[in-house]
Amino acid sequence: MVCRQGILTDVYDMDLPGHRGGITDLRPHCDCGWAADRHFRDREEATAHWFRAHALPAVEAEPPGWLLVKSDVLREQVEELIKSRPEVALKLLHEIEAWHRPLTQRAVAAARTSGASWTEVGQALGVTRQAAHERFRDPS
Ligand SMILES: [Zn+2]
Repeated sequence: MVCRQGILTDVYDMDLPGHRGGITDLRPHCDCGWAADRHFRDREEATAHWFRAHALPAVEAEPPGWLLVKSDVLREQVEELIKSRPEVALKLLHEIEAWHRPLTQRAVAAARTSGASWTEVGQALGVTRQAAHERFRDPS
């Protein structure tokens, strides 16, 4: 692990903007505002704690970068298709809609089963708690 002037640089290639670990007085903290609730014996332990207790869960809470890239590529290619063959683009968008909605419903149900609140579901979908609840609540 490379430490330079108290900043943990590229400890792991996480590609998570806004999260850069640092150590002050053997207490790890992060650019996002997170800070450990205690001090550690040495920099190595402090670094390991930042990674285990904060950085790894933060990474796991976001979609993988490679999957976001694929999503961007699909969107860009649909935009190109709209320009050249709009009727074909409509067929493709219909195909996407056919799997998008059921997958979203399954993801919401799985998130709720694992304990996510409607507020958390709404935040993930970019809508309010109320909108998420109205759209995806179990009708039974
Ligand atoms: Zn952070």
